[in-house]
Amino acid sequence: MLKFMPILLAILYALAMYRFSVWRTTRELDTQSTELADPVLKRMTDRLATALDLPRVRVHIYEIDPVNGLASPDGRIFITRGFYRKFQTGEVSVEEMASVIAHELGHVALGHSRRRMIDFSGQNALRTALAMLLSRFLPGVGVWIANGLTTLLAARLSRGDEYEADAYAAALLTKAGIGTAPQKSLFEKLEALTSGAGGAMPAWLLSHPKTAERIAAIEKLETRWQHSPS
Ligand SMILES: [Zn+2]
Repeated sequence: MLKFMPILLAILYALAMYRFSVWRTTRELDTQSTELADPVLKRMTDRLATALDLPRVRVHIYEIDPVNGLASPDGRIFITRGFYRKFQTGEVSVEEMASVIAHELGHVALGHSRRRMIDFSGQNALRTALAMLLSRFLPGVGVWIANGLTTLLAARLSRGDEYEADAYAAALLTKAGIGTAPQKSLFEKLEALTSGAGGAMPAWLLSHPKTAERIAAIEKLETRWQHSPS
């Protein structure tokens, strides 16, 4: 029984970390955000809501400068103040804003936002448990292998999530009659918008895959949808 103690402790640690991270994130978002009331953008989110058979899609403004959209563990959708500013200045179109909201809706619908928080808080615990376990059989290199495995797993999970959220958004935007063109044009703008935007992103906003690969993935979906009987 005693030999399972490290694993048990690691699990308890992960659970505690998860509760704390959710609480801290929710509190941060509650104090740093307001619900968005933009009539132009609302016309777009109403189209997404209709396509989803929902009464409305709520969007909140998160008061930070870096350009990003995000979905909280409790399922709310946020656009950063910096991103909204790009829309106000005309650098980002209303359809492109809708594509970000659709992407974040995908993260919520597919359960990513909740799981991402679990991943994030569980990572350290998993690393610790693996290191303890592997060190028994492989003294010295056990820790090194544990680190490598955990990092690889985390990268795999988050990357898969992004492609899934993109595919969800592409389908939703197509159903809403907005189409995937703004989704693709935004990917190209994002690279320029997010570089040198000042201020570090919160660590739990994991990075997105490469622009060209994301566009290619959407085009592959479009080809498949065109060739499938409707
Ligand atoms: Zn995403």
